[in-house]
Amino acid sequence: MDTTTTATMILTAGRTWPWARSTSPTSDGLIQADPDNAEAYTANAKRYINEIDATDAEIRELLTEIPASTSVITGHDSFGRFAGAYGLEFLSLQGLSTEADPSAANMARLIDVIRSQNIQALFHENMISPALIEQLAEETGLPIAGTLYADALASEGEASTWLGMMRHNARTLHDALAEPGHGEGGDAHDHEH
Ligand SMILES: [Zn+2]
Repeated sequence: MDTTTTATMILTAGRTWPWARSTSPTSDGLIQADPDNAEAYTANAKRYINEIDATDAEIRELLTEIPASTSVITGHDSFGRFAGAYGLEFLSLQGLSTEADPSAANMARLIDVIRSQNIQALFHENMISPALIEQLAEETGLPIAGTLYADALASEGEASTWLGMMRHNARTLHDALAEPGHGEGGDAHDHEH
């Protein structure tokens, strides 16, 4: 395994992120184990930290365009830290319903909750059966605005790396939930709408 892969695996294993900098990426362990390659480990760690910071800035820009009162419904409680860092509220179906396959009564309750919140769209999740979301979409008339990735990376494409997955989720949320017309002035928009 080459040094880049090793460093990336160790850094991502700790779910390293600017808002979790108490667990700042470190190559100390690698350097101790293999001092001959200290320079490469340090350079890789530095490069990865820069990439994290750039991704964080991009996500922040995308998500600040979503109105503050917006809630997002997801299948399970995987987005807590993401939500906390970027100021979105995530409600999970898992938290709202204890049943994997909700009864009619539970389904009615879920729909009530969705209607009582400022919910604009539903999202598939890679780890959740699409049937429940599709049923909710049918019952509420809300669009399904893409797939969010949590816990497991996509096998290919943008969401197949940890940072790519974070970026994909932010773009998917932005495209579905950003205020209509917010980018028309052209100010501070280096992403496409
Ligand atoms: Zn935008």
